Amino acid sequence: MLIATLICSDEACAEETEVVTPDLAALDVAACACGCTLVVLGVSDWTEARLPAVRALAAAA
Ligand SMILES: [Zn+2]
Repeated sequence: MLIATLICSDEACAEETEVVTPDLAALDVAACACGCTLVVLGVSDWTEARLPAVRALAAAA
């Protein structure tokens, strides 16, 4: 899974959102709530992003 950071293409909106997707091709149809298209700012790997959080939870328990 991938985590994509998206931003609205409308400068007046500029809403940022994160989307978890197995396939970047799915982001082609992503749209902001305002109706404008979303532009990909960056992509992170879900597994790498999750590991530190999992370890932190285990340590706290
Ligand atoms: Zn928007």
